[in-house]
Amino acid sequence: MVLRCIRCGREYPEDEVRYRCECGGLLEVVIDLDKVDTNIFDGKNVTLWKYESWLPVKKRVTLNEGGTPLYKLENLGKDLGIRELYAKNEGANPTGSFKDRGMTVGVSKALELGMDKVICASTGNTSASLAAYAAKAGIKAYVLVPSGKIALGKLAQAIIYGAQVVPVKGNFDDALRIVVEASSKLGVYMLNSINPFRLEGQKTIAYEIYDQLQEVPDNVVLPVGNAGNISAIWKGFKELYEAGVIDKLPRMIGIQAEGASPLAKAWKEKREFRPEERPETVATAIRIGNPANWPKAWKAVEESGGTFESVSDKEILEAQRLLASREGLFVEPASAASLAGLIKLLKNGEIEKDESYVLITTGHGLKDPNIVIDNFRLPEPIEPTLEAFRRVMK
Ligand SMILES: *Cc1c(COP(=O)(O)O)cnc(C)c1O
Ligand SMILES: [Zn+2]
Repeated sequence: MVLRCIRCGREYPEDEVRYRCECGGLLEVVIDLDKVDTNIFDGKNVTLWKYESWLPVKKRVTLNEGGTPLYKLENLGKDLGIRELYAKNEGANPTGSFKDRGMTVGVSKALELGMDKVICASTGNTSASLAAYAAKAGIKAYVLVPSGKIALGKLAQAIIYGAQVVPVKGNFDDALRIVVEASSKLGVYMLNSINPFRLEGQKTIAYEIYDQLQEVPDNVVLPVGNAGNISAIWKGFKELYEAGVIDKLPRMIGIQAEGASPLAKAWKEKREFRPEERPETVATAIRIGNPANWPKAWKAVEESGGTFESVSDKEILEAQRLLASREGLFVEPASAASLAGLIKLLKNGEIEKDESYVLITTGHGLKDPNIVIDNFRLPEPIEPTLEAFRRVMK
């Protein structure tokens, strides 16, 4: 196993603490596909560490992540006239988001490399997850968050798991800039998604989808923020393909929020990627103007024949309500962007109904209760009598 630059191809040993190539390009882990176990995809006992032979770590800091449910969305599938619609519910992970997949591998790697301090910039879920895995590993975690722009549940998690929470006057992109410098100058191990080992954990979403469905879906639809997850899932499918486990690949469809959509804009306008200065959206987990992994994400969408789309905050909140009220699935706003994007692409006739779609619902709805509560007014309390209830029952 080596680290390889996706831009110039230069290789580095996997035990070197390094996040980018000398040329500035992003790194990815190259797995020895002749050493992986290809006979494990039997649909049974699905958990992240089932795929250990496909993962570049020997140590194991785990809270039993992965093995998340793949729900068939019968009601919404019918409503939308889609042949097969599924949601891979990543909110069911130990800290309530897919970030746990990255952190179980990333923090394990930190220990292997002998690091005793870890750091990340976060819109919320990354900090909650890193804090938990650092606690389990017994090492110190620093998390830098945009001041005032982090969902209540996520902040509570980072605090209680014992991380040092540092609010930054600025947005996620500002916080990440500091973290990148700190990791090169202050001896702390960075676990943002430009760390290629985090993506190794997250690629298991692809393994699990195939393992649970026993086939490759036509399309995978997910929200895109810093653009690590879409890159990771694509890498997972490609590895399955190259190892001869599967014989087709899905289209990758990345959904951004309109107010933070540098990838969707560049894609639609067929021009060079340009970061956005002031990202804004209710979906705080994807409120990112300068996605660090954009070159990997661009490749994923291009190679897979997929697309990028953007959706408004209104469409996101409507989709969040639909997932909850039609399917019993309460996800945070960013996660609902996947359904919102699917609905928009269907309406515009850009995707086919007679195909299968897996939505990645990335985080749990309880992370961000204010989004729901602030938009709902409870009625006045009734008198404690059956008569009073009968009047409101209608
Ligand atoms: C991190 C996160 C995203 C965005 O994932 P990227 O890898 O940054 O593109 C989407 N939804 C939720 C809930 C997240 O926590
Ligand atoms: Zn390079």
